[in-house]
Formats: sequence, C-alpha cells, structure tokens
Amino acid sequence: MCRHLAYVGPATTLKSLLVEGPHALYEQSWRPLMQRHGTVNADGFGFGWYPPAVRGGSPEAPARYRRAVPIWADANLPDLARTVRSGAVLAAVRSATEGTTQDESAAAPFQEGRWLFSHNGAVADWGRVPVALTSEELLGVQARSDSALLWAMVLRRLRRGEQGADALAAVVGEVAAARPTARLNLLLTDGVSVAATTWGDTLWYRSGEGSVTVASEPGVSPDVLRAPRTGASQAATGEAGPWRQVPDRCVLLASTAGGIRITPLSAARPTEESGTQ
Ligand code: GLN
Repeated sequence: MCRHLAYVGPATTLKSLLVEGPHALYEQSWRPLMQRHGTVNADGFGFGWYPPAVRGGSPEAPARYRRAVPIWADANLPDLARTVRSGAVLAAVRSATEGTTQDESAAAPFQEGRWLFSHNGAVADWGRVPVALTSEELLGVQARSDSALLWAMVLRRLRRGEQGADALAAVVGEVAAARPTARLNLLLTDGVSVAATTWGDTLWYRSGEGSVTVASEPGVSPDVLRAPRTGASQAATGEAGPWRQVPDRCVLLASTAGGIRITPLSAARPTEESGTQ
C-alpha cells in the first residue's frame, strides 16, 4: 500500500507539506503507522503541484516530479521541497504491487490536463479486469499497473463531464464488482477541490483556516496516535483543526469553499460497463 496526500489552501512549500512536521509523508515512506499491506514505501514517489494562477480561479495544468527511487534517496528533493510553493498539491510514496512496472511511469500522481490522481491499494489480476475503454484510451494508459488502469477508467468519466467524486465512486463500484478483494483508496484533485474514496485502507482529513488536507495517515506523532481516543476527534488538534478519520467505503469531497462531504459508497452499484469476472 502506498501513502498519499492532497492539500488545497494557502500557498506553502512542499517542505512544510511533505517533509516537516510530525509524521509527514516523507516519514511515512519508511515508517508508516497504519499500513496494512507492505512494510515500507520505497518503490518510488511523486508529487504534483499547481502554479499560483489556479488559486485565482483559472485552473492551470499542474507540474509533476516523479522518481522510481525511495523519496529519502533523491538528492534533488531537499532543494525542490524548499523552493517549490503551491496552494494545491497531490503527493504519494509507493510500495509497488506485484506484477506492475517498477519505473517512474507508475509513480503517482498520474496526470491529465488539470487533474492529478493517485491510488492506494491493489487490484488482483488487474490485467483481466473487464473494462469498457476504446483502443485509444487503452493505448493511452500511462503505465503498466493497476493504478494506471484505474486512472484510465476515471479519466474516461471525467472527459464525459462527470464530477470527480462521482467518477471515483463509479469506478470503485465497477472494479469492486469484478474484483471483490480489490483495495481502492483513490485520490483526485483539480487544484481546487479534492475527491477521495476509502475502500480497504485508511484515510484522514483536516480542515480549517482556508485549507483542506486529505491523507492516508494523520500528520501527528506516534505518541499522540497511541493515546486514548476522545470523541469524534481521534487525533491531535492544531491550527488547521483536528485530524478526523474517514470511515471505510465512503467517498469524500472536500474544498476550502464547500467544506467536507462524506457519503457512504454502499449504494455504489456496478454499471453495465463493469461486466463480470
Ligand atoms: N497498486 C499500486 C501500485 O502498484 C498502488 C500500490 C500501493 O498502494 N502500495 O503502484
């Protein structure tokens, strides 16, 4: 399982988002605390960030940086993290699923236009999941991996004008119908809002002060996580509000303007495109 994170809010450095602070994504690469599959996330990493214009309301395509090496082994990272600032970021550290390519093409985030996408999970026998894609869409699959196939399925829906959260929910429904053991924590942003699903692994969020962060694990120290839980707020508070856990099998839609909406996915049904196993 990988660990991933999306942020929208005031512009900040990649260093403060991904490296600094307790239990940041950087640390989660070698010391994940909630990872149920795999031990470390050393099979690559990536981040995508939006240029400032997007905050003014005109979405512009993000830039990406992806590598096939562990995040701690990349000598470019310190300078990039220190100098790149953005108000919208999606980042992931990877633990590759068997049978997928190890090269950087399979490191999230995947991108098309203003969209960035990541998948935390695995789909068994993904090469034979029944999918309804055109030849062009199949040839456009961005890597030889289950995640890239899921991205092609999501992208097809986005291109048809579906909302991000709806597209994610529909693809989870289709794939879970064909592969009941699939783990499908999907994460998507257009630089303004964040959509995510929980289907087999953890997801947390925090919001406040004009920012929203959605992440596989909360950015709090292990000591805080081990402390007894209190009420709905299951982890430490901070200036951006407490971290809260998203229940499994839900779809989340978050933006700084619209708040957080979490909807159970149990209603998700396979569409006629899903076929059978
Ligand atoms: N299956 C995806 C991959 O191989 C994601 C893996 C993960 O969540 N660890 O990249």
